[in-house]
Amino acid sequence: MYLRESKTVVVKIGSSLLIDENKKIRDKWLINFAKDIQNLQKLKKNIIIVSSGAIALGCKKLKLNKKSLKLDKSQAIASIGQIELMNLFKKYFSVNKINISQILLTLEDTEKRRRAINAKRTFENLFSLGFIPIVNENDSIATSEIKYGDNDRLASRVAQISGADCLILLSDVNGLYTKNPKIDRNAKLIKEIKSIDENIEKIATKSISEHGTGGMKTKIDAAKICQLSGCHMAIANGLINRPIKNILLKNNCTWFLPKISKLDARKKWIISSISPKGDLIIDDGALNALKKGKSLLAAGIKNVRGNFNKGDHIKILDKNLKEFARGLSSFTSDEISIIKGQHSKIISNLLGYVSKSEVVHKDDMVRI
Ligand code: GLU
Repeated sequence: MYLRESKTVVVKIGSSLLIDENKKIRDKWLINFAKDIQNLQKLKKNIIIVSSGAIALGCKKLKLNKKSLKLDKSQAIASIGQIELMNLFKKYFSVNKINISQILLTLEDTEKRRRAINAKRTFENLFSLGFIPIVNENDSIATSEIKYGDNDRLASRVAQISGADCLILLSDVNGLYTKNPKIDRNAKLIKEIKSIDENIEKIATKSISEHGTGGMKTKIDAAKICQLSGCHMAIANGLINRPIKNILLKNNCTWFLPKISKLDARKKWIISSISPKGDLIIDDGALNALKKGKSLLAAGIKNVRGNFNKGDHIKILDKNLKEFARGLSSFTSDEISIIKGQHSKIISNLLGYVSKSEVVHKDDMVRI
């Protein structure tokens, strides 16, 4: 079973597992969750927890309603609630002698390669010290344009960066069903999903409106990132008392199987980017060259979309706008607008300075 076989496991928990509808802390659940984590430690797993709840706990402390909060206020509330959140883990985990640490990430910490490597090293050092990192988005700093906004995608990127083989999203449903289980007795839990096709996307969209669970969309987005970075991902019911034990023993959840496993860590990081900044649309000649493993040259670029800098993540699309590859651009979008369609020899003349000839080097590119 995927969880049993994994060496590094990321567990993501949402605010609703920590606090109930009446804004009470779910003490019993936390006691049992700590036992679950202790059990994973006994199985010699490296563990990372991604936990939401800073804003919800900040609101609870200040007796405010989360829905009416403006962004700047919610940043302050998150800063207040994050301590409450860590206090909860400290209180319940110390009973089982589980050592914890805190890591707060912003989008740039995972999307800039140097910072992602730095985060990876910190995770590894914490594993070797026997501490469990508890991760959240740094909501007090992040603004709407540079925000994950949801911890599902954050958790999938944390899983990719840390080289985890398994991500468990603890939710308030058992997983993805063929139909709405609340109204259709024939609804079946989908046990394994190999590829996320239109049908799966449709079921996921329906789950949001019909079950009122919210967030199935971001879970599917997280699953796509995991599939590309070679990590198994499960959507499982977190509301039961020992949710992880339940997966280990009964496996009644939905597993998304990874597509890619052979790429090196850097290429996995490239392909599972959360926020590509733009698109390069290429002609058939360039497409054929890329299929043979060549770099992308300016001559084959028909168009450029978006605003990006050197080193940013971009998507490479064929002439029908189908995504073919992802990569890191060696030029800014403004430069590409000037040199697109032109021969490499005249790039320096066009730009007025000497530069590389490949727009996306083959080592910085991964086919989808
Ligand atoms: N980072 C947010 C918090 O701690 C939660 C984001 C989410 O619910 O996915 O409140």
